[in-house]
Amino acid sequence: MESTGAERLDTEQKAALGSGADFWTTKAVGDLPSIMMTDGPHGLRKQGEATDHLGIGASLPATCFPPAVGLAQTWDPALAEAVGAALGRECQANDVQVLLGPGVNLKRSPLGGRNFEYFSEEPLLAGVLGAAWVRGLQAEGVGASLKHFALNNQETDRMRSSSDVDPRPLRELYLRAFQRVVQDAAPWTVMCSYNRVNGVQVAHDPFLLTRVLREEWGFSGVVVSDWGAVADRVASIAAGLDLQMPGGDPGPDAAVVEAVGSGRLAPEALGASADRVARLVRTAHASRVEGATVDEGAHHELARAVARRAIVLLKNDDAVLPLAPAGAIAVIGEFARTPRYQGGGSSHVTPTRLDVPLDELRAAAPEAEISFAAGFTVDGTGARPELEAEAVQIAAAADVAVVFLGLDAAQESEGFDREDIELPAEQLALLEAVVTAQPRTVVVLSHGGVLRLAPVAALAPAILDGGLLGQAGGGAIADVLLGAANPSGRLAETVPVRLQDTPAYLSFPGEDSHVRYGEGLFVGYRWYDARELDVAFPFGHGLSYTTFAYDSLALSSEPEGIRVRVTVSNTGDRAGREVVQAYASLPGSAVQRPVRWLAGFGSIELGPGESGEVEILVERRDLEHWSIALDRFVLEGGSYRIEVGASSRDLRASGEVELAGDAVRAPLTMDSTLGEVLAHPVAGPIVAQQLGALPMAAGDAPALGTDMMRMMASIPIGRIVAFAQGQVTREQLEQLLAAANAGAPA
Ligand code: BGC
Repeated sequence: MESTGAERLDTEQKAALGSGADFWTTKAVGDLPSIMMTDGPHGLRKQGEATDHLGIGASLPATCFPPAVGLAQTWDPALAEAVGAALGRECQANDVQVLLGPGVNLKRSPLGGRNFEYFSEEPLLAGVLGAAWVRGLQAEGVGASLKHFALNNQETDRMRSSSDVDPRPLRELYLRAFQRVVQDAAPWTVMCSYNRVNGVQVAHDPFLLTRVLREEWGFSGVVVSDWGAVADRVASIAAGLDLQMPGGDPGPDAAVVEAVGSGRLAPEALGASADRVARLVRTAHASRVEGATVDEGAHHELARAVARRAIVLLKNDDAVLPLAPAGAIAVIGEFARTPRYQGGGSSHVTPTRLDVPLDELRAAAPEAEISFAAGFTVDGTGARPELEAEAVQIAAAADVAVVFLGLDAAQESEGFDREDIELPAEQLALLEAVVTAQPRTVVVLSHGGVLRLAPVAALAPAILDGGLLGQAGGGAIADVLLGAANPSGRLAETVPVRLQDTPAYLSFPGEDSHVRYGEGLFVGYRWYDARELDVAFPFGHGLSYTTFAYDSLALSSEPEGIRVRVTVSNTGDRAGREVVQAYASLPGSAVQRPVRWLAGFGSIELGPGESGEVEILVERRDLEHWSIALDRFVLEGGSYRIEVGASSRDLRASGEVELAGDAVRAPLTMDSTLGEVLAHPVAGPIVAQQLGALPMAAGDAPALGTDMMRMMASIPIGRIVAFAQGQVTREQLEQLLAAANAGAPA
């Protein structure tokens, strides 16, 4: 690798390189210029004079794309990549070198205050979309900052709380999306989170920042701290952190110089860190595009295309939707006039323009007679009978009512978690009154976190769920309501029947700065499926204005994994896009497994009556589990079941395919049980033969299955010596283990 020149810097300069100059920039050191970072992730938040990381101060106008909650519902990596690229162009035009995103933390609980900024409860979906976004951004010469690494799954006590998690959920769920993005898209930076993991502050944790991130995953970029995450800069450098943000305090740089001088910090650690920052700065400057400009109109159109694809048709009884662009349409709800389209906090963007659903509907359906009533306020002051009465009146007089419900910005934001998943009571009361007056009622939802929708689904025949759709969401909603676009979005998060059903209900957000991830491997749909719980709308769900049939599923085992091919036919009378999901399971697995897990997905656009083949590669890595004994991922051999369908609970075809699995075996030790030794191909037969001779076997056949043997199977082999009355010695056992381990494949 070409030298960055960092080795020529003295200790003071190296220390200076590892912290910011101010809120958003690094220091110019030696011949290294400064670079600028800004939030992120769904738009650029470049601030002028007043700088902060809480979304309080104003920022320059930038395209507000759908936040991750909306983007995820597209299940479309190509669109995520296009959004990344557009953001990259906006960064270039604004002389920003690193954009602080994407956020790929898992949505452990629907109460997570920042869920709107994260993709999914499913690490595969979050990882695939996150990697695509990073690829798009970085192809424009702007660095990503993959955040918040790691296990920052709540906002409560976020700067101290310890996420206490077992190795399998840690590896198979919480680190999974990060691993995929690092390995598939090589982000220039990773942002370490505020919280602690298993008691250790992440900013000071060599296990996460060095062993996992760099040694296991091969990350070679810069680890930047979340803003204010570092308590002890010296400890953080030793752990593998490179850049403390924000800057401005000279204290930490001086502490680093002192620590190197006193021998408390290895100069090599500081040198390596400075080298990484220098490489980032040089790469970023070499990638700058002088005079870059942004086509705001084109970016607004892209935001609209993404929003259109993000909308999920949850329900559509009696084909109420799409609406005819004629007749009398009553549009109800403050959100139709004052759209809710992004979340609060550091990601808050000042949009370049804003589509208002009511105006967009009027523009798209000039022949229709569109009336409007606010129905409720979003100021949290409760029911307003006069507004409700007005809404009921226009609904009764119309042919159809479209009611915009949702959560206000004040109800969900970075910095705090939600306490419930309810829609405001006055909105539900309004809906009930409107539906009574006008049974043909469509609900349009805007919200960042999951809502309890059972009461809405019980009342309204049709529901469109937009999550948060960004600045062009208004036009996209009009497109879908009127059928100019056929919805194809899919839920990236289960909608539970009740908060009490959710996996982390009894252990969120923890207490005394500890939160126990007690649900283990069973997050999201993995939990509802294992517990056989009803849900309001399952993970992966989303309807269309047309229908699709699945047939001719073909599975083949290949070196990279399982190739899945299925034919999808559009059996309705409209063009549409179907998102095809492939779920895996391993019946009879030796370890605990979810009932099924998402192992791949794809999509196809088909005209009416058309058929086409969807091909999905289920990669080996997405079938592996983390072996606690071996401290690594392992592919278990066996007959994998692949189920293909339109949601996690709408599976249309399935088949099985045999995979050989990894030839790995944990070495036998004195602590291995007799049962494990008997199951070993080398040691097993030897021990089985000798067992009959032991006094306590008393002539019984030494086959597992007898009561005696079942009892003995759990005895660690080292303890057998004590029972064997001199007939088995420790030396014999040591020889046996040595022979067995020599013969075992590594
Ligand atoms: C947030 C980060 C953000 C940073 C800078 C922090 O409070 O957690 O996501 O990038 O501030 O604004």
